[in-house]
Amino acid sequence: MADAVLEVRDLCVDYATRSAPARAVERVSFDLHRGEFMAIVGESGCGKSTLLFAIARLLTPPAELTGGDVRFNGTSMVQLGEKQLRALRWRDFSVVMQSAMNALNPVKSIAAQYRDAMKAHDKRLSKADIEERSREVLLLVGIDPVHLHSYPHQLSGGMRQRAMIAMALLFSPELILMDEPTSALDVVAQRSLMTKVKELQERLGFAIVFVTHDMSLVSNFSDRLAVMYAGQVSEIGPTELLFADPKHPYTKGLLDAFPSIYGERVELAGIPGSPPDLSEPPSGCHFHPRCSEASERCARVAPGFYDLGERQVRCLLYVDEGADRG
Ligand code: SF4
Repeated sequence: MADAVLEVRDLCVDYATRSAPARAVERVSFDLHRGEFMAIVGESGCGKSTLLFAIARLLTPPAELTGGDVRFNGTSMVQLGEKQLRALRWRDFSVVMQSAMNALNPVKSIAAQYRDAMKAHDKRLSKADIEERSREVLLLVGIDPVHLHSYPHQLSGGMRQRAMIAMALLFSPELILMDEPTSALDVVAQRSLMTKVKELQERLGFAIVFVTHDMSLVSNFSDRLAVMYAGQVSEIGPTELLFADPKHPYTKGLLDAFPSIYGERVELAGIPGSPPDLSEPPSGCHFHPRCSEASERCARVAPGFYDLGERQVRCLLYVDEGADRG
């Protein structure tokens, strides 16, 4: 697509195990448009973070990219060597990890870590340029630059996470991949960070892929939502549409599992059971053992990915409603 910054096609990732390989990502495809905010949601163990790491080409054994392609601005990332990938990371796309305390180097100041990242990409940058840009990005994320020479442990959890996002902005990349960046924060800090991320995205125009297990977190922030279950995308479409009118039973289950602040009080209902062992996924539809709408056919027939106009759904209930996109 002409305005796609990222094109993911039939991406597959396997984890080597003692027995059969576990397919953690199974033929995932989507386009991410310039300046778009895409959230990837699902329970733990559904392949969301593995998908993100596969896109960034950051997988390490036993995980292995076993099929498909990821095109960034039209260039296949799958074909690139480590040196070429290093040149792209930070400058053209960056990654914000789950826990800033682990991702940031505890024995280096924020200033030193920003300097290392900038020098690795542009050796000509002067000390003054680096200091100026470092202060700029801290201000962008709402941190007083007085903290630039602090060490990670001297900052609060929310500030560390913001400092990570500031680092991701050093070169004004077109794309930022975020892996549960708010999971270690309390609800107030989560909300404040999400508001800041959205404000920066609208102001600077970068695209985001945002992984989270908390669907409610992204309801007001993402443009599009991809719901993952057992390594597959089970439903994808505009966030508002999926929240207002979910089609896939798994999306419905996730939505029923958190409280709404609007409307009448309703009893919360979780999804029974847990995601499957991906080295031995259930036959037919992977969700059938937990699905309240399953029929006998669901255990035998793997559903296609049916196009219902603005959204696609992987569920046999919609087999007659849209063309199978595979
Ligand atoms: Fe449920 Fe069957 Fe649809 Fe799978 S295909 S989500 S088991 S109704």
